[in-house]
Amino acid sequence: MKGVLYVRENDHITCLACARKCKITKNLHGFCGVRYNLNNELIVANWGLFVAIAIDPIEKKPFYHFYPGHSALSLGTVGCSWACKYCQNWDISQRKQLIGIKLEPEEIVSIAKSRKELYDVITITFTYNEPSIYPEYSYEVAKIAKKEGFYISWVSNGYLTEEAIEFASKFLDAITIDIKGNANPRFAKKYILINNYEPVLEALEELYKKGVHIEITDLVIPKIGDRLEDARNLSKRIHDIMGDNSNIHFLRFYPNYKLSDIPPTSINILEKHTQVAKEEGISYVYIGNVLGHKLEHTYCPECGNIVIKRYGFLVDEVNIGKNNRCKFCGYKLYLEGHAKRSRITSPMYIETNKIPIMRKIVDSEIVEVKLSN
Ligand code: SF4
Repeated sequence: MKGVLYVRENDHITCLACARKCKITKNLHGFCGVRYNLNNELIVANWGLFVAIAIDPIEKKPFYHFYPGHSALSLGTVGCSWACKYCQNWDISQRKQLIGIKLEPEEIVSIAKSRKELYDVITITFTYNEPSIYPEYSYEVAKIAKKEGFYISWVSNGYLTEEAIEFASKFLDAITIDIKGNANPRFAKKYILINNYEPVLEALEELYKKGVHIEITDLVIPKIGDRLEDARNLSKRIHDIMGDNSNIHFLRFYPNYKLSDIPPTSINILEKHTQVAKEEGISYVYIGNVLGHKLEHTYCPECGNIVIKRYGFLVDEVNIGKNNRCKFCGYKLYLEGHAKRSRITSPMYIETNKIPIMRKIVDSEIVEVKLSN
């Protein structure tokens, strides 16, 4: 399928989907492996080719302020605009061969509709790999899904161009922007293979101004991406942009891929990060990937009471009154939609009649993929 986000230049095209802005000559693809130059037209080669599909608790994204307790029909393809050396989903994100089952936008919406009542599906989320490398597909799904009452959301690195922000904000209701290593520029160069973090922070600001619901995660990696000074600068920047709605989920790192020799992040360093974020005025501060931690809950920024009590992906108790105000003090919370107790607490895998014919698009074996987010 032809893409929209690119410009044609003399002997190549320039892709505008992400801030890498690859210049792609004929018969080659860009860094992500899925945007391809065919006769100087950009083809989105992973169009509708999904390697992962499940109904996830929305807390798994993580969305803690967007319909808490509901579910997200979650989909992912191969490819990514980043090359994170610690990626949890590296076997699909770094895969340069196109594999997957072919699902048209209508089929995605039909799957969401068929599970809507049973699992409280509220959004279709493009996740597991980087959704901004095929934004045109999200847009096609959005056109149908919104008529059926579904929101569209992304779990993304936020590494977008101005053009991509403009395009995505037409249909995107919510986004989790996944920052890593406290947005330290040296970390970004060495472990992500990007030049700097500025495009991500600019996207955060622009999408927020355009009314997209935003939650921010930060993967804290021991020794190489855990400087408190960086966490302070990042928190300041988020607070400047989002004010009373500012939030951050500090995520515990677990060894994976090329960084399997680094130990998991200590709880102590994660807690120090949350302290710094609170000092910088962040209203909602969380610790993720630590089951049972007290910072899984949402606390009212005004009175400090628990307004949403969680255990892992389970929303167990909701103390929120009318108009999303704290039940204890009446403070207006940063919350889109209503919160409810969860029906599911782990992914529900989808069986479609297409799964047995998972297609071999390019010469590649099918692998089992283990997914996070
Ligand atoms: S999405 Fe990013 S990485 Fe992929 S081709 Fe476009 S500019 Fe390059």
